[in-house]
Amino acid sequence: MELNKEQKIIGLRVLNDNIIWLWKNNKSIAVIDPAISQPVIKYIKSNDLNLEAILQTHHHSDHIGGTEELIKEWPNVKVIASAKEKDRIPFQNLSVKDGDNLIILNQEVQVIEVIGHTKSHIAFYLKNKNPVLFIGDTLFSAGCGRVFEGTYRQMFNSLKRIKKLPKNTLIYCAHEYTKNNLEWALAQEPTNNNLKIKLREVEGKIASKELTIPCKLADEMRINLFLRAKNLEEFTFLRANKDLWV
Ligand code: ZN
Ligand code: FE
Repeated sequence: MELNKEQKIIGLRVLNDNIIWLWKNNKSIAVIDPAISQPVIKYIKSNDLNLEAILQTHHHSDHIGGTEELIKEWPNVKVIASAKEKDRIPFQNLSVKDGDNLIILNQEVQVIEVIGHTKSHIAFYLKNKNPVLFIGDTLFSAGCGRVFEGTYRQMFNSLKRIKKLPKNTLIYCAHEYTKNNLEWALAQEPTNNNLKIKLREVEGKIASKELTIPCKLADEMRINLFLRAKNLEEFTFLRANKDLWV
């Protein structure tokens, strides 16, 4: 399947640095990790759309904060979340697990469990000629999520799974952290030209009020030190180092 031209993915920048992704197909829409509800409701109503599904990558409040308000507006909406999170995402009505295949907006979507940031974080992978990955807080452009509940090994293995996806996969992360991540990466590798070029590009986008995301997996393989880490030791060193960076 290919994203047809009726399809579009729109990012809403909310709170400090969250991005709510809206995935639209004709008159139907799905929302990924609605941190808050108001701008989502406004967008859907002003474009006369129907909210078909809410996709939750994990339970943190900056990802589920708007969900209950959206359910009030659209009581038939599918709320898709990890079956392991029935306690922390209690309003889910379609519980999923690693490897599940779903049809959302007439598209095939695969659930990929990517634990580490939390103990049951999932990602949603749209199998297309131009694949799309809604990755939540597992991977950021030039960075990766903090290891809160899992182990470094789990996070390292989650990144390994991401690396196996097609290199043209567009990755939609839930935070706009790119500039800070690149500055940290450059402090580690001051002579890395790929990082310098990317930082310039990102500063340009920020100056013109554009999002720096999505990012392409092929590009991340060049600039993301966490994806480039050769082994668990290297990954652990980088992640612990980044935790101390402000
Ligand atoms: Zn989070
Ligand atoms: Fe978050």
